[in-house]
Amino acid sequence: MNILEKALAMLSKYPLCDHCLGRQFALLGYNIENKDRGRVLKLGLTLQASAFAMAKDNEGIKRLRILAENGFSYEAKETLRRFKTRIHKQDPSKVCFLCEGKFQLLDSVIKKALQAIEEYEYTKFLVGIELPITVEEREDEFKAEFDVSYGESIKHEFGRLLGKRMAELTNKAVDYKLPDIVIIINPFTEHVRVQVNPLFIAGRYRKLVRDIPQSKWFCSSCHGKGCQKCSGAGKMYPESVEELISAPFLEAAAGEKTVFHASGREDVDARMLGTGRPFVIEILKPKKRFLDLQALQVYVNMQAKGKVEISSLRFTNKEVIRRLKKAETAQKEYNVLIEFENEISEEALQLLEEKLTGALIKQQTPLRVLHRRADLTREKYIYKVKVKKVSPKRALMKIRCQGGLYVKELVSGDEGRTLPNVSDLLGNKAKTLKLDVTNVIIE
Ligand SMILES: [Zn+2]
Ligand SMILES: [Zn+2]
Repeated sequence: MNILEKALAMLSKYPLCDHCLGRQFALLGYNIENKDRGRVLKLGLTLQASAFAMAKDNEGIKRLRILAENGFSYEAKETLRRFKTRIHKQDPSKVCFLCEGKFQLLDSVIKKALQAIEEYEYTKFLVGIELPITVEEREDEFKAEFDVSYGESIKHEFGRLLGKRMAELTNKAVDYKLPDIVIIINPFTEHVRVQVNPLFIAGRYRKLVRDIPQSKWFCSSCHGKGCQKCSGAGKMYPESVEELISAPFLEAAAGEKTVFHASGREDVDARMLGTGRPFVIEILKPKKRFLDLQALQVYVNMQAKGKVEISSLRFTNKEVIRRLKKAETAQKEYNVLIEFENEISEEALQLLEEKLTGALIKQQTPLRVLHRRADLTREKYIYKVKVKKVSPKRALMKIRCQGGLYVKELVSGDEGRTLPNVSDLLGNKAKTLKLDVTNVIIE
């Protein structure tokens, strides 16, 4: 069956608009819209029918009627008039079998979509289409009935056309991979849903004081509800690095909430110094995306002055969070102030440097975190150790090691759960007085 015959067979059975007839031949010809494919097929059939009619072949008038009624063809109707044939009055309830005439009514749904995204800032968007199941099933059956092999799906055509029109009207770009917003449109019910993708901002933070946790730490008794133990605050510490940084971003972006991601974490009582620890703030449902990061940095650093300091802010994407988590085992540098039970000698510290530099530490999950971490033995490498005596019983240890090594336990030994350790190597019980992270090395 050639193309024109197939188109006629479809129209003989079902009313079809230009879009829906043309769509069944979408893979034929390039740079042609389905609407034009459909129209050209109907015109071709009109010419053919016209020739039959001139030759007094009854088939001619019969086909022109089909084109006028089921094809909604103005030209076929006018041609019938020229042959002085009685024209049946068009049944106004007759609509396209596949789209129910929705391709002719896109303007109103586009208006609704534009209204729905009015309050959001974005540069890249994507249109998603939701259709009643019956519509998709009907098209599937139709395609099977006529053995359609060059077609496009109705969903795809709606998505393409609406995306193109919205791009023209908004001057924004359609993006399939990382759109800022996805507008989900049902052209049949004219229902519009907006899915706003998170905004990701990367940076580094320094924690200049002890006794601030990295993230909000819920009260262990009430888990955030507020109780006597936490004086109603619901948390163990009044502030955290996360809260100090996130609040201004959430407000600037007019988002719903934030999620704080960092490459590892320091202990509550450890400072985070050097160039800082990499983090990413994920802002959910942001209304504003065009943030002035320089101004935000200044503002956060002013608000959290003396406590937390951020730098190197930039916009990023979800992918970076995965790399951030992977980098948790990247190299870290620490300064540890150690206190020994007995006096220490220079020789002992010399021995410590030699034994720990290049050592592979076997570390069983520390007792103090056992309640929230699985009991495993990890192996962590130490690249370099430098120790300096600062008083008869105190020493300052500089250590560069694989991330994830629990340094306090390396010092104490954690009841033999970390091996080797400072206490055992010197036969002198040692504990950490102060701990600072001085560098998080990520390539
Ligand atoms: Zn249609
Ligand atoms: Zn509480």
